[in-house]
Amino acid sequence: MPPTALLPEPAAERVLPTLNQDGTRRWLRPTPSRGRFFRRRRGLAWGLIVLFALIPYLRMSGKPLILLDVVRRQFTLFGTTFLPTDTVLLMLLLVGIFLAIFWLTAVYGRVWCGWACPQTVYMEFLYRPIERLIEGGPRAQSDLDRRGWTLRRLVKHAVFVGLSLFLAHTFLAYFVGVEELRRWVTRSPVEHPAAFLVMATTTALMFLDFGWFREQVCMVACPYGRLQSVLLDRRSLIVGYDAQRGEPRGTYRDRRASRDELAATRAGDSPGARVMVTGDSPGARVMVVGDSPGAGAFGDCIDCGACVVTCPTGIDIRQGLQMECIHCTQCMDACDAVMDRIGRPPGLIRYSSKDQLQGGPRRILRPRVVVYPLLVLLVWGALGVALAHRSPAEITVLRGLGSPFTLLPSGEVSNQLRVKIVNRGSEERHYRIHLAEDAILRLVAPANPLPVGGGKSATATVFVIAPRSAFVHGQRDIRLHVEDEGGFGTATPYRLMGPSE
Ligand code: SF4
Ligand code: SF4
Repeated sequence: MPPTALLPEPAAERVLPTLNQDGTRRWLRPTPSRGRFFRRRRGLAWGLIVLFALIPYLRMSGKPLILLDVVRRQFTLFGTTFLPTDTVLLMLLLVGIFLAIFWLTAVYGRVWCGWACPQTVYMEFLYRPIERLIEGGPRAQSDLDRRGWTLRRLVKHAVFVGLSLFLAHTFLAYFVGVEELRRWVTRSPVEHPAAFLVMATTTALMFLDFGWFREQVCMVACPYGRLQSVLLDRRSLIVGYDAQRGEPRGTYRDRRASRDELAATRAGDSPGARVMVTGDSPGARVMVVGDSPGAGAFGDCIDCGACVVTCPTGIDIRQGLQMECIHCTQCMDACDAVMDRIGRPPGLIRYSSKDQLQGGPRRILRPRVVVYPLLVLLVWGALGVALAHRSPAEITVLRGLGSPFTLLPSGEVSNQLRVKIVNRGSEERHYRIHLAEDAILRLVAPANPLPVGGGKSATATVFVIAPRSAFVHGQRDIRLHVEDEGGFGTATPYRLMGPSE
């Protein structure tokens, strides 16, 4: 036990919603609010879960819809394969995606986080519901937290491991493709230990994320979440609390006290107060103005805390827009249900903008919502033009391994070349390699034409045989032609090496 002087001082206030003041983890056990937004999000979430699982199996133009083959450095997106040499195209694609994200965020705020991000979708609509099913509601879960390991908790973790295995396989299918994944799954781990290690690590990371780290991903790890303060402005769509309507808050007891005040006023006990009451329910809007004790005006917020206990990131939306808020709309559903019960209109917490919540007009147009789409159009337009003019195959000619040239017994000079052909199309092509317009040179190629499958690459080793007299100062420039049956043809310049005299 360290000396008391070495123990950390408790924080003056809560630093993160997921931390207690002494620095220990504060587990969040949100109560689901099954309102209209929840139902829509759940429908979308299940659609997305199915889509995320299906995408690796979908094909477009004979290629995977999405395949991020990091090992071979080939990225296939919507039927188009990008190679490492397509740096400019990839850069245009990424810049376009980032600009589109900036634009959508400026207009719709964190709609991605709350409705479509896999972290939110899996956490709120897969892992948490299973957790509630096995362990019970928030109170039962907190009780289990105190009791430590129990059979229920073990069962939950076993189910989480199974789910994480499934998600890890789905996730890796985006990077290795379903055929390779099938091989991984059907072969013994001993035969492919590296692949097995990748799978085990990914499963462990999934389990740690959804079983332990959870909402902290959105708060401290996700770069998109950290960028919100610069991506949003006062007119962006946010989930916001209408303080003008809700404040000052008054609990049921406060309102009862005001009613008593009202009764006293009517009885003439407090002649200085003016009172206005609307409705008869406990949540009735009670305005008590004047110098009597307890005088004041109550807003619609009855301080029930329903919006706080339902929040998956543990914040109180009534404190204003916070970086932890993922705009999941749970507080909107919770508060609408409360408003319904107390006979007040819904929307005390609603989709709005900072300007509107402070009584300003609803204005969408501003420079960034015009500039971003224009830039997106420009960048993606350039990408479209570049793609339309991209060669259907990529040819790279490299010098053979070993000595730069060989002197043959016939007295001729042989240069070994490696011709790498990448077929960007989806069909198999046959590539013919030849030397044009050079009668004194001979090409020897073991496989010519060379078949290359759609989206695949192949390297042919060829030899160019030349008489000694063909070289000037030990060099001769040639052009190596590669053509396919579909009309593709290209000539690559190459310098042969030979004896210098
Ligand atoms: S749910 Fe609505 S009424 Fe209840 S505390 Fe939150 S804002 Fe106030
Ligand atoms: S404050 Fe509301 S919208 Fe934001 S994360 Fe919490 S429940 Fe979701």
